[in-house]
Amino acid sequence: MQPRIIRAAARPTAKAGADNFVGTVLQDPVYAPEQPSRLRATRVSFTPGARTNWHQHAVGQILYVLSGVGRYQLEGQPVQSIAPGDTVVIPPNSRHWHGAAPDTMMVHLAMSETNEKGEATSWFEPVADTDYAKAPAKAE
Ligand code: MN
Repeated sequence: MQPRIIRAAARPTAKAGADNFVGTVLQDPVYAPEQPSRLRATRVSFTPGARTNWHQHAVGQILYVLSGVGRYQLEGQPVQSIAPGDTVVIPPNSRHWHGAAPDTMMVHLAMSETNEKGEATSWFEPVADTDYAKAPAKAE
């Protein structure tokens, strides 16, 4: 890990792959793991209706919502609406998805760590349209 400032212009925006996401999702890398750090941080921009597939993280994940209106669901629990300033804490190996609201985009900072084996995220099937369309639980 070398001391430096990683300039924004040195990190092109990537379009997330259709194998793990539905809709148009843009990823701006913030930090990738460098020994001894295991942290990966990515700013992820979901266009309206876009979301991740179901997935889980070996060491969990922290989401910090930066803008817009989003959706999040931990398997077995109601869909939640998430808003700027919210922090979502997702425990290790817990199936979930996150994304934009149907008509509004959402941007979050996603932070996760690899485990001691270097494992991070396991991907599963897309979120069914009927699940995605469910009205979210009221925010507190
Ligand atoms: Mn996740």
